[in-house]
Amino acid sequence: STSIAELDPQIAGFIDAELARQREGLEMIASENHTASAVMEAQGSVLTNKYAEGYPGRRYYGGCEHVDEIERIAIDRVKALFGAEYANVQPHSGAQANASVMHALIRPGDTVLGLNLAHGGHLTHGMKINFSGRLYSIVPYGLDAETGRVDMAEVERLAHEHQPKLIVAGWSAYTRQLDFAEFRRIADSVGAYLMVDMAHFAGLVAAGLHPSPVPHAHVVSSTTHKTLGGPRGGIILTNDADIAKKINSAVFPGQQGGPLEHVIAGKAVAFGLAATDTFVDKQKRTLAGAGELARRLTDGDVAERGISVLTGGTDVHLVLVDLRNSTLDGAQAEDLLAQIGITVNRNAVPDDPRPPMVTSGLRIGTPALASRGFGSEAFAEAADIIAEVLKAGTDENGASPETIAELSERVTRLANDHPLYPTLTEIGAR
Ligand code: PLP
Repeated sequence: STSIAELDPQIAGFIDAELARQREGLEMIASENHTASAVMEAQGSVLTNKYAEGYPGRRYYGGCEHVDEIERIAIDRVKALFGAEYANVQPHSGAQANASVMHALIRPGDTVLGLNLAHGGHLTHGMKINFSGRLYSIVPYGLDAETGRVDMAEVERLAHEHQPKLIVAGWSAYTRQLDFAEFRRIADSVGAYLMVDMAHFAGLVAAGLHPSPVPHAHVVSSTTHKTLGGPRGGIILTNDADIAKKINSAVFPGQQGGPLEHVIAGKAVAFGLAATDTFVDKQKRTLAGAGELARRLTDGDVAERGISVLTGGTDVHLVLVDLRNSTLDGAQAEDLLAQIGITVNRNAVPDDPRPPMVTSGLRIGTPALASRGFGSEAFAEAADIIAEVLKAGTDENGASPETIAELSERVTRLANDHPLYPTLTEIGAR
């Protein structure tokens, strides 16, 4: 046989174990999702064998007639989905997409304004040892200490002071909508390009539940695997023909060699799914679930334990728990949730008093649960379980084994009520 189970039982065993982990627990890492089986089918196809350097109709390899069609369809679908005139679907990841945009628009040494990593920005927006921080001169902007929101007055002040060539708007840990028009006004006032990295909220934009950056930014980059629910990968959109040309040559041959046509096929499938009413319904449940979680984590019984959420709520698919006033730290909270079968990540809050490996926050997201069919009742139950375990964690002796056992059972019930991938050849994730 050629099946992975017989050929390589060691790897097959770990894949099975990972499937069981995803099925039995609740994935609430805000950047994750459960993609459709159809997307995984595309990724596991013979397309992985094909070299296709270049672009549809202009390849450096023979035999590209079928992958050309697939890549054209992916481009057309993503353009229609986001109302953009040009799209590049080849970036292997969100990081590659951002590297390509910078490669296309600016030169090493140029100044870039990006959201501070410690305030919710991404590594590729200017972290010191990331390519962005090494190649470009980064000026970070931050959040207003009072409101917890991006301080547009500071963005404007820094733009005028440092005259950046590129302003990056977008985030990995933030719970409010950005003012894209204001970012563009500031960019124009100093002659900078505006890039919006919508990796986190792309699914909400596709569903019409979040303002679109496409009409405002010179370039929009994104991942395809977060709220958008597709395969791991990146995309770049623009409405400007000159910029589109520069982006294409920056992706290939600037940053990458052969495109991953099996992933591009998965992207095409995901873009098709994202244009359906089912997808809009899923994004609505994603948002409502995060709203319910924020509401539960601001109730009096958790507030009196020093637990709250940054900005007091959320407009997106995630909640940022603030543990600065709690005896429980981010690492302990992450571990407690893991003990009952809920996966989240600890996350530094602005001006975090605790060290980066500990932190005073949690980032909790709802996209993966919405994909396995969670509705308002299930999300309310999940929110209550999270509130209960965090509260228990602040008890003098920590959460008791009885509490952990009882909450684990409630998690198992939720997981069983929302089966994930009933079989791997069937669309289990909606
Ligand atoms: N941009 C943002 C805003 C992100 O949050 C992320 C990933 O977390 C990326 C880019 C990078 O995506 P990838 O992990 O695919 O390189």
